[in-house]
Amino acid sequence: MIWDSTAKQKLRQLWDAKLTANMIAEQLGCTRNAVVGMAHRMKLDKRPNPIKRMSEAEREARKREARARKVAAMKPKVVLPQNPPPTPKPIPAPVQLSSHPCQWLDGDPHLRQFCGEPCLVGRSYCPEHYARATIRKPVIF
Ligand SMILES: [Zn+2]
Repeated sequence: MIWDSTAKQKLRQLWDAKLTANMIAEQLGCTRNAVVGMAHRMKLDKRPNPIKRMSEAEREARKREARARKVAAMKPKVVLPQNPPPTPKPIPAPVQLSSHPCQWLDGDPHLRQFCGEPCLVGRSYCPEHYARATIRKPVIF
């Protein structure tokens, strides 16, 4: 593109008419970059930036929102346990004891003394020692 005085005049006219650089380039038969470059060299009025800039207040508001979101994400979520419906307690089965003696080591283990009470059916311990042997610690999260 050769920028003679008529081309420059036409550019100034179209520029002042607020046409976009692309539209001017189409009319002059050149590239958009050529239009923008010549407009800059001719010191024509600058166009407002098409990318909207955030004001300081908007920027601060966004930062505050992001901070609030971050803090909210860091807080542990407290979920109050809702009262579960009462579950019917299982009816304990009658304790059946066998004739086998309890195998719970009682007293000095070197003397191999056992409890000796009657065992639960199918178990090696009496009810008391079976309960002690199978006790589970509550899991704390
Ligand atoms: Zn026992």
